[in-house]
Amino acid sequence: MRIILLGAPGAGKGTVAKLLTEFDGSVQISTGDILRSAVKEGTPLGKKAKEYMDRGDLVPDSLIMDIMEARLQEPGFPRTIPQAEELKKLLAKLNIKMDFVANLDVPRDVILDRLTTRRTCCNPACQAIYNIKSNPPKEDGTCTLCNHQTIQRDDETEAAITNRLETYNQKTSPLIGFYEKEGLLKTFLSLSSKDTVAEIKKALKS
Ligand code: AMP
Repeated sequence: MRIILLGAPGAGKGTVAKLLTEFDGSVQISTGDILRSAVKEGTPLGKKAKEYMDRGDLVPDSLIMDIMEARLQEPGFPRTIPQAEELKKLLAKLNIKMDFVANLDVPRDVILDRLTTRRTCCNPACQAIYNIKSNPPKEDGTCTLCNHQTIQRDDETEAAITNRLETYNQKTSPLIGFYEKEGLLKTFLSLSSKDTVAEIKKALKS
C-alpha cells in the first residue's frame, strides 16, 4: 500500500499509519519522527531543525528534501507544495505509484483537545503516541511498549500548537487542492482512527 496521510496536526496521521502498517507490514515514514530522532541525537540536521520545530514552524523545504531523497528509497511527507512537486518527481523516477492520498478531516475543537492531551514515548526508536484521556500510558507515565518515559512534546505548548495549526492552514492545506487536481484525493471524516483505518482498507480494495 502506498498512501500519503494528509491532515492537520492532531488529525490522527500517526495513529492511523501505525494501524495500517500492522495490517500489511507497510512502512510508515514520518518526517516528524525522523526530525525528532535527529534532535534527540544532536545531529547537524537535528540542531538546525530544533528551533523551527519548537516554535511550531515548518522546517525549510531544502532540509526536508535532503532527508527525503535518502529516506524514500525506504518509505511521510509532503507538507508544502514544493515538497509535493518534488515527491511527484521522485516517485516517477523510482517508478512508484501512489494508491491515493487520504485526507483526514477533523474538526478544530477535536484537534485542540487531542493535541493538549497527547503524550509521546521519548524513545526515538519507538515514539508511540498516547492520550491521557483515551489511551493512557502506564500509571507511572512509561510507555507500554518499551518502558521509556512518555512526555509532552516541546511543540505541544498552547502557543506552538496554535502556530502549527496556522502553519497547516497556510502551507499544508493547499495540498488538498493539489492532490484533488492529480485525481488522487480521498477525504475521510476522521473521528475514530479505527473507523478511518477500516474505511481506508475498503478504499484500497475498490
Ligand atoms: P509532526 O510530528 O508531524 O507534527 O512534525 C513536528 C514538526 O516537525 C513540525 O511542526 C515541523 O516543524 C517539522 N516537520 C515535520 N515534517 C515536516 C515536513 N515535511 N516539512 C517541514 N517541516 C516538517
